[in-house]
Amino acid sequence: MEDVPRLRADATPPAWNGYLLTVACPCGVVFERWITPWDAELDLLRAVGLN
Ligand SMILES: [Zn+2]
Repeated sequence: MEDVPRLRADATPPAWNGYLLTVACPCGVVFERWITPWDAELDLLRAVGLN
């Protein structure tokens, strides 16, 4: 069975001020984004369509 290349997401353990989200592409590019608790809340609100 062949492995399909895919993005691999990882995150540091949440701290009081957020956590670091890293997304690794199979080609070697790594995206990093610091997610604050406020970002997470906005994403959640967006996900449930409340804003
Ligand atoms: Zn890539």
